[in-house]
Amino acid sequence: MFAEIIIDQDAKALDRVFEYIIPDDMSLSVGMRVYIPFGKRILQGYVIKVKDDCDYDSEKLKSIISKIEDFSAIKPQMLKIMEFMAEKYHLKLASILRLFLPAEMREGKVKELFKTYYSLVEGASIVLPKSAKKQAEIIDMLQNGRVSAVELAEKFGYSPIKALREKGYIKKDMEEVKRSPFVIVEDVKRVELNDCQKNAIEKINGNKTYLLHGVTGSGKTEIYMNLIERTLSDGKNAIMLVPEISLTPQIMSNFKGRFGSTVALLHSGLSAGERFDEWKRLFSGEARIAIGARSAIFAPLENLGMIIIDEEHESSYISESNPRYDTRDVAEFRARENGCPLVLGSATPSIENYNRAENREIELIELPVRANGREMPPVQIVDMMEELRRGNGGIFSNQLIADLCNVINTKKQAMIFINRRGFSSFMKCKECGFVAKCTDCDVSLVYHKEDNRLKCHYCGKQYKVLSRCPNCHSEHIQYGAVGTQQIVSKLKELFPEVKILRMDNDTTSTKNAHQKILSEFKETKPAILVGTQMIAKGHDFEDVVLVGIVDADQSLYQSDYRATEKTFQLITQVAGRAGRSVNEGKVVLQSYSPYHYVYKFASNYDYKGFYRKEINIRQTAQFPPYSRILRILFSDFDENCVREQLKMCYTDIEELKKSCKNEIIYLDAMKSPIKRIQDKYRYQVLMRFKLGHADQIEKEVFRIVDSKTKNSVFFEVNPQNLS
Ligand code: ADP
Ligand code: ZN
Ligand code: ZN
Repeated sequence: MFAEIIIDQDAKALDRVFEYIIPDDMSLSVGMRVYIPFGKRILQGYVIKVKDDCDYDSEKLKSIISKIEDFSAIKPQMLKIMEFMAEKYHLKLASILRLFLPAEMREGKVKELFKTYYSLVEGASIVLPKSAKKQAEIIDMLQNGRVSAVELAEKFGYSPIKALREKGYIKKDMEEVKRSPFVIVEDVKRVELNDCQKNAIEKINGNKTYLLHGVTGSGKTEIYMNLIERTLSDGKNAIMLVPEISLTPQIMSNFKGRFGSTVALLHSGLSAGERFDEWKRLFSGEARIAIGARSAIFAPLENLGMIIIDEEHESSYISESNPRYDTRDVAEFRARENGCPLVLGSATPSIENYNRAENREIELIELPVRANGREMPPVQIVDMMEELRRGNGGIFSNQLIADLCNVINTKKQAMIFINRRGFSSFMKCKECGFVAKCTDCDVSLVYHKEDNRLKCHYCGKQYKVLSRCPNCHSEHIQYGAVGTQQIVSKLKELFPEVKILRMDNDTTSTKNAHQKILSEFKETKPAILVGTQMIAKGHDFEDVVLVGIVDADQSLYQSDYRATEKTFQLITQVAGRAGRSVNEGKVVLQSYSPYHYVYKFASNYDYKGFYRKEINIRQTAQFPPYSRILRILFSDFDENCVREQLKMCYTDIEELKKSCKNEIIYLDAMKSPIKRIQDKYRYQVLMRFKLGHADQIEKEVFRIVDSKTKNSVFFEVNPQNLS
């Protein structure tokens, strides 16, 4: 018997199927992991097929050394996902397969779960020919007790081991590595569903994709729990994805409380061992609900009856490191393979998915009101330029300071949100709000400190830095953003007696820091919590009556066609933090461009109005969903080598552009905005093409790049950021 094997290595040359002989005494099935000899090395591989005949000369084939585990770690369904992803994103097979296993099981990481050992067969009378030196050495070694199969094979190669096994002198056994179990439980209240919720649950019943558009607080979580309950009682299993950031203890204990040990949680707060245990519980069928961030879409569950993606618009569903993929595509594929519903939930759906709903490609379900009947808090927009004209050049407007005083006097709480995204910064006139934009692309230019230039991240065009505003001739030009630290120190100055807490990447790097800050905030009144995106979601604090958004414009002027969409999403999310309970809430939004349409729609909680405006702009400017953007990223330690490879590809892609007339709207090659990462030089080709023949064009580009390059090249479709 023979096996087709994918080798667990990154090299491009190894990215294909290899054939190996299955030793007669080895029972092997598809999805198992094995050790195989490769040249002089011993490598790990995945069995993707078992067959009677081989395609190559069987004399030349080598034998599999041993199994890594005695079961198929990769289930057959996962191999289909592998094929789907390889085709869609042009990824290496091994890099996809690795996504399906917890880090714990992969090479070089933590402990193996199952260890394979060789030991002497008791009572065997061993007679070896003089020439069999290696065999004798093995026997000697095993006299002192068992030895791991890997160690043995690395030292002596596989053939002496095989010979000894065939003679019945040594035997193999496996042992499970035990680990401590995983605990949390809390009881949870049940609510009577309202009509909107009941209607949604009834509708979500087919082999389709549903867009659940429900305002913040409309009770989507309750719907998810009921859908999952129904799925379990139908004898099927479920996956629910949430953004990592909203995997709060609150949500976890909610689900644990309702579903107990049927839930497995996969999130980054777990140790590798715990994560592995959760994976194993899913694998064995002991747990039937997988809840986690992006990677939980690869949970080893069969017979899925429901897949849910909460906050579907979140950019964290798109993997920006290798392998690059969009979780929503994979979820849709998996749902169709299982013939089950895929639910995309959001208060602010992505423009792309709302557009699909509008075109009836997916089904729209709406929840227009909050479950507790409360109104959304009013949003007051403060014009920061007006503030400046009146002599207040500080971070806080007089309005926000007055409202903060009020919060403190009434012993309530406030959240101050600063809008921080990415590394980049734009350039803005403090007098008139003018922001420098690319003349070709209509996205904001990014200020690059190192060469003191403004650059467009879409087309690479460069501009001189402005010393005067071209609009009002003012010299008050601001680069970049204020940070959380600056805000905290300002607040301490203003309110020396009040507890000011800070939550951002710096203060939450240690384990549980996140939780500590939140519980401290919960217990202190009055208090002010200052934070980035991290405070935008998932927290239900009854006494938060004021949310201040200090610099709403930050995300508006990112060099990104999704900048306005992201700004709308953020404001809606942050505003949803205020007045969740009996307390009246209020939102103060400070802006230098207070008349930008995004603020009008966001402050009225008018998603549809916003969508309409935005989709028209996308159509006019030919941005997704009316086109596709492809980024091809080249990187190497040797700068000349990257440039050479890029040039060769580019010439052919230019030919392609000529041959397909107007299909390719835009094509250019440039240094990446971040020129070097981990000592590798980065260059990129950016292209934008119409949808009509997008798939063919993409395939053709893949083919060109493959034929011209030796190293790894990465592709990204509609990238989230172009750094
Ligand atoms: P969303 O996820 O849509 O933002 P949640 O599911 O967090 O909203 O619900 C918001 C609040 O409303 C929660 O405190 C939840 O317990 C409550 N809630 C949900 N459904 C109902 C209901 N049918 N009746 C009363 N309260 C509800
Ligand atoms: Zn100006
Ligand atoms: Zn441009």
